[in-house]
Amino acid sequence: MMIRLSGITPSGEAHLGNYLGAVRRWAREPGPDDLYFVSNLHAMTTPHEPERLRSLTQHQLAFLVASGVPWESMFVQSDLVREHMALSWLLECTCTFGEARRMVQFKEKSEGNSSVRLGLLTYPVLMAADILLHGTATVPVGNDQKQHVELARTLARRFNTTYGEVFVMPEAVVPTAGARVRDLANPAKKMSKSSSDQDGIVYVLDDPAVVRRKFQRAVTDGLNSVRYVPQEQPGVANLLEILASCTDTTPEAAAEGITGYRDLKEAVAEAVAAEAAPVRERMLDLLEGGAELQKIRAAGAERARERSAARLNRALELAGVG
Ligand code: ATP
Ligand code: MG
Repeated sequence: MMIRLSGITPSGEAHLGNYLGAVRRWAREPGPDDLYFVSNLHAMTTPHEPERLRSLTQHQLAFLVASGVPWESMFVQSDLVREHMALSWLLECTCTFGEARRMVQFKEKSEGNSSVRLGLLTYPVLMAADILLHGTATVPVGNDQKQHVELARTLARRFNTTYGEVFVMPEAVVPTAGARVRDLANPAKKMSKSSSDQDGIVYVLDDPAVVRRKFQRAVTDGLNSVRYVPQEQPGVANLLEILASCTDTTPEAAAEGITGYRDLKEAVAEAVAAEAAPVRERMLDLLEGGAELQKIRAAGAERARERSAARLNRALELAGVG
């Protein structure tokens, strides 16, 4: 088994970047041993609202199902809260303070913040627990998460040599090139769930009129030239990349025949609305119905628990507490 694990954090609503850059690929090219999870425990490292977290967790699970990710491969992290936390503790007691403190993401996110949660420091260890609990072989991550996978490897190696062989050594892999969707209002930034400014974010649940309005307001430039030159025209390039991704072509080919920015914006808005419509409708159905989503969630939790129980028990036993 070559388990590949990917997660989505319910830190906000699903947007076009999550869909075109990640979840659509998970649905199109699922490996037989892939696991996809809603990492809701990771959404607690900064102050959060419980009810919002609860509903965003359902929202992200519905997003995965509606996008066509195989439901047999998904689970919600907190449905295995005892398992994830038990292993996280074993690994916290394997990790040094220096190792945790050196994480670049922690340094960046904690800087200038006088009330940083301890969870922000230890969350890479929780991530290591997510990876190791399920026997993950590969973790597709961007550059910002590579250091965390490296930490997971360090902890797995240390635990295995100190207490006994139990964990699979995970490896970070660069995901096959997917669309990198940028913020429509600020193409220098990637589209992000946790962004404070919502104007440039197209949500999967936005209705077609809202999608159209957001694209009409997208930042372009004064050149009035529809060409794919990302360095010179980042806003236009972003629109062409989105259009290309929705229509399964290249940005250069997508530019052909479009002469002005108005036409370009209309073409992208239409392509996005068409691509998102089935996902949006299915998501709304799932969220309204409730029972089907609950069934998928419960079955996913059951499978994930069965899959990980022996490994967790063995690790507890090796550490002298099981
Ligand atoms: P946050 O702001 O909380 O980090 P996010 O929007 O970056 O949220 P994540 O939960 O971090 O979303 O990532 C989920 C998946 O979506 C990951 O595989 C990530 O690479 C992908 N992803 C996130 N944003 C984009 C984007 N703008 N373009 C392409 N892929 C993206
Ligand atoms: Mg992110």
